[in-house]
Amino acid sequence: MEKTTKENTVATIDSTTSHLRENPFQIARQQLRLVGQTFNIDPNLITVLQECKKAVEVAIPIRMDDGSIRSFQGFRVQHNVARGPSKGGIRYHPDVTLDEVKALSMWMTWKCALMGIPFGGAKGGVICDPKQMSVRELEGMTRRYTSEIITLIGPEKDIPAPDVGTSPREMAWIFDTYSMNKGHSVLGVVTGKPLTVGGSLGRLEATSRGGLYCLLEALKKMDTTPVGQRAAIQGFGNVGSFLAQFLHEEGALVVAISDSGGGIYNPKGIDIPAAIAFKQETGHLRGFRGAEAITNEELILLDCDILAPCALEQVITADNAAKVRAKVIVEGANGPTTPAADDILEDMGVLILPDVLANAGGVVVSYFEWVQGLQEYFWKEDEVNGKLRDIVCKAFEETWALRAQRQTSMRMAAYGLAVMRVAEATTTRGLYP
Ligand code: NAD
Repeated sequence: MEKTTKENTVATIDSTTSHLRENPFQIARQQLRLVGQTFNIDPNLITVLQECKKAVEVAIPIRMDDGSIRSFQGFRVQHNVARGPSKGGIRYHPDVTLDEVKALSMWMTWKCALMGIPFGGAKGGVICDPKQMSVRELEGMTRRYTSEIITLIGPEKDIPAPDVGTSPREMAWIFDTYSMNKGHSVLGVVTGKPLTVGGSLGRLEATSRGGLYCLLEALKKMDTTPVGQRAAIQGFGNVGSFLAQFLHEEGALVVAISDSGGGIYNPKGIDIPAAIAFKQETGHLRGFRGAEAITNEELILLDCDILAPCALEQVITADNAAKVRAKVIVEGANGPTTPAADDILEDMGVLILPDVLANAGGVVVSYFEWVQGLQEYFWKEDEVNGKLRDIVCKAFEETWALRAQRQTSMRMAAYGLAVMRVAEATTTRGLYP
């Protein structure tokens, strides 16, 4: 298991190529310690919660299309199961590290607790570049990865879902591999599945829909609406593209969007349905008509009202936070703002809707998918979206109220609520043995 010392951080992260400039697990632990101090949580509990329950590293050898064999490195981390089986996505990306997966698993624990759903936190990842792999290679890697972690996962134990670089297609392979090994279909083993094999209506759009609901509540508190608000969105995958579409439908002007190849900008607003069609057709946003090219760094600093980082971690840092011009930040991505940037933005009066609140819609509808799978009884889309709205809006109100009561940030309030719930469950269950 990897140590989380400063030396180790430097050794494991190549800062010239990785998007991770700081160790995300150290950030997650730093946030937890701050929550502990702010909300007077027993330091013994913080000692328990700052560790991951289980972290597994696996080798995934597969035969590539050219006949050679390559071994990929994969991880599955379960942070906490005090409130229920652990839940969390699987990331395929070249920059994946064990400490990134640990941080993401800890954030999943807080997210599920904040939403009041009966799950703990987990995450998985494989160091690979899915864009450079064929479908056959990806299927082989996914099935072998599933086999390597098969004793860890299961509907009552740990339930994976999509994250960066994975989609319903990979979830179908995980579902099939697990089911083949069990000898019968096990719908509850994974969420984010295609509709044809037990997925839930509304799951694909759920993370963005949850983010939209949060933003609409925040705008209400600010006595305004999305109409005419200028939004810049980084990342145009599952989360970013649906958020862009929803904001466009709500009457906002989406002035900038981007993917890993860079962004496009039009101060009068981008035609989002056309941009989605263009991206589907060409695989990128470069060259989209009626918009000028910008970099991902420039997008963060654009003159806009709403900034939604929906790609990777650590894009708003101490280096650029003071130059951010948005009034509201919707964290579609996990961990896009570093603690140092948080302090700067808070002093500037920027309202941050933190990841554990703003992107929790995905895990909420994953919970619905799991429930539907266990019951083998599927709901209408309106029912899914209505229940999602209830849960997200309740969590928003609770966070907003605690923020006012404690005169703190939305992040501190959201993490505070979540950590206190997990701490309470841990205390109630008692320390085994
Ligand atoms: P995705 O793979 O569907 O899309 C990721 C997008 O980010 C792509 O457009 C990609 O081109 C872009 N990207 C990659 N590297 C980039 C870079 N360096 N700069 C700018 N853009 C870059 O992934 P997703 O599922 O949309 O996840 C995005 C974020 O949302 C992640 O932080 C993920 O953890 C978080 N999230 C996802 C879900 C979900 O349900 N999918 C739920 C909660 C949180």
